[in-house]
Amino acid sequence: MSNLIEIKVPDIGGHDNVDIIEVFVKVGDTVAVEESLIALETDKATMEVPSTHAGVVKEVKVAVGGKVSEGSLLVVLEVAATATATPAAAPSPAPATAAAAPQAAPVAGSHTGAADYECEVVVLGGGPGGYSAAFRSADLGMKTIVVERFSKLGGVCLNVGCIPSKALLHNAAVIDEVKHLAANGIKFGEPEIDIDALRGFKEKVIGKLTTGLAGMAKARKVEFVRGVARFIDPHHMEVQITSGDGKEVTGETKIIKFQKAIIAAGSSVFKLPFVPNDPRVVDSTGALELKSVPKRMLILGGGIIGLEMGTVYSTLGARLDVVEMLDGLMQGADRDLVKVWEKWNAHRFDNIMLKTKTVALEAKEDGIWATFEGENAPKEPQCYDLVLHATGRVPNGGKVGAENAGVIVTDRGFIPVDNQMRTNVPHIFAIGDLVGQPMLAHKAVHEAHVAAENAADHKAFFDARVIPGVAYTDPEVAWVGVTEDEAKKNGINYGKGVFPWAASGRAIANGRDEGFTKLIFDQDTKQIIGGAIVGPHAGDMIGEICLAIEMGCDAVDIGKTIHPHPTMGESIGMAAEVFKGVCTDLPPQKKK
Ligand code: FAD
Repeated sequence: MSNLIEIKVPDIGGHDNVDIIEVFVKVGDTVAVEESLIALETDKATMEVPSTHAGVVKEVKVAVGGKVSEGSLLVVLEVAATATATPAAAPSPAPATAAAAPQAAPVAGSHTGAADYECEVVVLGGGPGGYSAAFRSADLGMKTIVVERFSKLGGVCLNVGCIPSKALLHNAAVIDEVKHLAANGIKFGEPEIDIDALRGFKEKVIGKLTTGLAGMAKARKVEFVRGVARFIDPHHMEVQITSGDGKEVTGETKIIKFQKAIIAAGSSVFKLPFVPNDPRVVDSTGALELKSVPKRMLILGGGIIGLEMGTVYSTLGARLDVVEMLDGLMQGADRDLVKVWEKWNAHRFDNIMLKTKTVALEAKEDGIWATFEGENAPKEPQCYDLVLHATGRVPNGGKVGAENAGVIVTDRGFIPVDNQMRTNVPHIFAIGDLVGQPMLAHKAVHEAHVAAENAADHKAFFDARVIPGVAYTDPEVAWVGVTEDEAKKNGINYGKGVFPWAASGRAIANGRDEGFTKLIFDQDTKQIIGGAIVGPHAGDMIGEICLAIEMGCDAVDIGKTIHPHPTMGESIGMAAEVFKGVCTDLPPQKKK
């Protein structure tokens, strides 16, 4: 005998219309109690919704790209007739401040052999999270080892992420700006691009920073062990020593005995199953190698990384197509900001295919042929010289033998931590991309400091109110805290102050007055709860809004802070004045 029961979304912390980013089950699957059914993403957190019952999936009522709220029907399960209803389980959150998930801890291993190294703190991974944790640990007087498979510290961010992409974007921005000067009567010739030299510049930038990190590690007496690390028990790690480009294992193995550990192994590119192994199909790392400039390029995934790399290639001469499953590019940012970016960048694109999926990529002699499905899919497959797949990143939590240390890892590879960055094993911490969204370097660094301080028995907490996001495109798009779209969706009683850059003397003088600065205030408390900027250098300006939110400022605090004139930073003070109805740089407003 069996029964059909409906599994619905439990209390998800008051969020409504939350995006479904993954559905883990299909009809016919057998699921266990607590097994994850779907993953949801708000701007603050990724969370998985577990099943309240064991059974066989009869119907799946949701799909990736859809939205759910508390009470939305997820799946219909066939369960044994004796199964009794259990209260809806809370979703297991994956953000930095999430409590360890209610998941059984794995049984830890036990190592009885000798050790090659001993330390108070071992840090697994040398990215921004890892090196910051190691440096802070050493500064707090603890004997520290950092293990990294590659020869240099810096991780994704310095070597194949934030920094090289910005080095290329800077050059692209200068080329674009020079073109705009023609309208002011200053004409330069067409740029002559020496792609090898440009790549060399990017490598030099990376080299300068990674050399600096090596020096700082040395100055702090942080020991660098090069190899692939795995926990073998709660106090031992095995390292397979590497050489060459980081993937070659020498065969030599070392054992590290540690008192405390900080896991900072980051994330990897999410690869769609049909992506062929062909040099004309690249991920962000491949795109940053800048081997040549294609005529026609497809960007698979309309997120920040894809659009940043697209900007570089387009300025160097490529025509772009972008395909995105959801209904807009640059998800997470308010649509009014993205509209400004879209207008400014329309000339780069032949096709922006929203609500469309790539379903096949075929490598042929004349190019990579892509087949699409969805609302804006071309009927025929399209041929590209280069395809960049930028459909997201997956955490590396499941790749470090965490289970041997008794550390819980979710099905998706995240390591749940509390707000002291502690895993379910009290002397082992985790930070950075592998503890949850947003996967950003500045989040990793702040978490790193918290983890290191707690490893030194301080009482530190990760209690940031907000984490900013920036697309370093042209114009830049930056946002922090509550977005206007989110405020509307969640019925927040908000008010806004928007200062259009068309009224900014500096923006007009710069010939770049397409943007605006927007501040979002809570109408009840009058405090600032969010802000967003679109325009050149928006990313450099958003920090002031972050500080205002952290300090609980209201519009008077911001508006009465004297900003230097003429600067783009002024637009933040003026947006606050607009909210108060006292801005004299715009036509008279209605009295408030
Ligand atoms: P990582 O930087 O991923 O570092 C993890 C390190 O651990 C790696 O060096 C890896 O080799 C090492 N490792 C993993 N497993 C093992 C093991 N078993 N043994 C030994 N070593 C191991 N973020 C921003 O904030 N701003 C940006 O502008 C930005 N731009 C980006 C552009 C691109 C193209 C990409 C791909 C990412 C970008 N990011 C950006 C994201 C940013 O790079 C990451 O959020 C950040 O690097 C995460 O830091 P982390 O320390 O958690 O991990």
